[in-house]
Amino acid sequence: PAPRLLGPAQIRRLAAELDVRPTKTLGQNFVHDANTVRRIVAASGVGPDDTVLEVGPGLGSLTLALLGTAGRVVAVEIDPKLAQRLPHTVDEFAPQRADALDVVTADALAVTADDLPVTPTAIVANLPYNVAVPVLLHLMTEIPSIATALVMVQAEVADRLAAGPGSRVYGVPSVKARYFGDVARAGAVGRNVFWPEPKVESGLVRITRTDPYVDESATRAQVFAVIDAAFAQRRKTMRSALATWAGSPAEAERRLRAAGIDPQIRGEKLDVGDFVRLAGVEPA
Ligand code: SAM
Repeated sequence: PAPRLLGPAQIRRLAAELDVRPTKTLGQNFVHDANTVRRIVAASGVGPDDTVLEVGPGLGSLTLALLGTAGRVVAVEIDPKLAQRLPHTVDEFAPQRADALDVVTADALAVTADDLPVTPTAIVANLPYNVAVPVLLHLMTEIPSIATALVMVQAEVADRLAAGPGSRVYGVPSVKARYFGDVARAGAVGRNVFWPEPKVESGLVRITRTDPYVDESATRAQVFAVIDAAFAQRRKTMRSALATWAGSPAEAERRLRAAGIDPQIRGEKLDVGDFVRLAGVEPA
């Protein structure tokens, strides 16, 4: 039998039993709509061969839907009260799948592959919105076995992640996400599927890992450092934005020319491949 999913009545009961007071600092907005979690799981494309890393399972809405489709789920939750309760919720709503769940009480921003009892192939998560981008980039970096990520984030962040060069909202998250592969919007989600209702709309984003740059001479950390420098002062030309990073405006110009980039251009016009080439230029 398929897992039973959590609706408003179940969310209310679980929250009352646990005496949960959702906190903004932990981005605690729980989905109480079965169609939404089904839609997220369908959009993720995960199947029986997948081990899904879920960040922030909360009361278990998405976890239960994932257990209906994925081979295994490892849920990383920072709130010990929620983490301790999750196996009992799965016992109640999807007893036949209880063995397929691992729960790790930890901060997803600090988690590495060694902290997990299994090797995840995918991330599927309704991310805590205040740390969504750092969590996503951290996990894509630390856990190379993750081939795809389907995450729900605040709509504006979904737009930023999926934006390409030249877009008004193209910036650090857009470029860094592309370092790992392809990035695309995968749908919109309204505010009324959450308890409590957030102030902002939500959106789904998919990252498909292709690792196009792992064989380049520049390391990921070097590439990310030049991206941060380029966008720290959005309105400046690359020549002046990168002066500190390179040591001087002249050295910035030399490296830009060596990478085949016009020193007068602004960062928002460059794609991740440009930043990878730039990070690989040897200092004078
Ligand atoms: N997945 C649930 C759902 O869809 O109803 C809850 C999603 S809620 C937006 C975010 C969850 O992430 C909360 O359960 C919160 O406690 C947890 N969380 C917040 N910060 C975290 C962190 N740094 N690491 C792991 N979990 C975190």
